[in-house]
Amino acid sequence: MNRQLIETLGVRYTGRAALDRDPQEDLVEFICPNCGQRGTKSARRDRTRYHFTDGFVQDLEGELTTCRGCRQALRVAPVVMVHDENEKRRFTAVFSEALGANN
Ligand SMILES: [Zn+2]
Repeated sequence: MNRQLIETLGVRYTGRAALDRDPQEDLVEFICPNCGQRGTKSARRDRTRYHFTDGFVQDLEGELTTCRGCRQALRVAPVVMVHDENEKRRFTAVFSEALGANN
């Protein structure tokens, strides 16, 4: 079993992009590159750690987690913060390849 960290892209919906969700829930969403399962984890990093990079507010350091499907240790990085529908569309367009790699 491979216990090495593998990296995957994360997204943190906030503001108007998260209106359909419990406001207490602040989650980072990701897809496990190993088994393709969608996962979420509570966002632990402060928003001040996010910086504007390549057109998006991102945390390049990311967060560590474990896939609930295959127990693979994951480093969710970068985490992209998405604030509204407009950004959501732009994010999906730019990162569709990374997001859909295993679908
Ligand atoms: Zn997995």
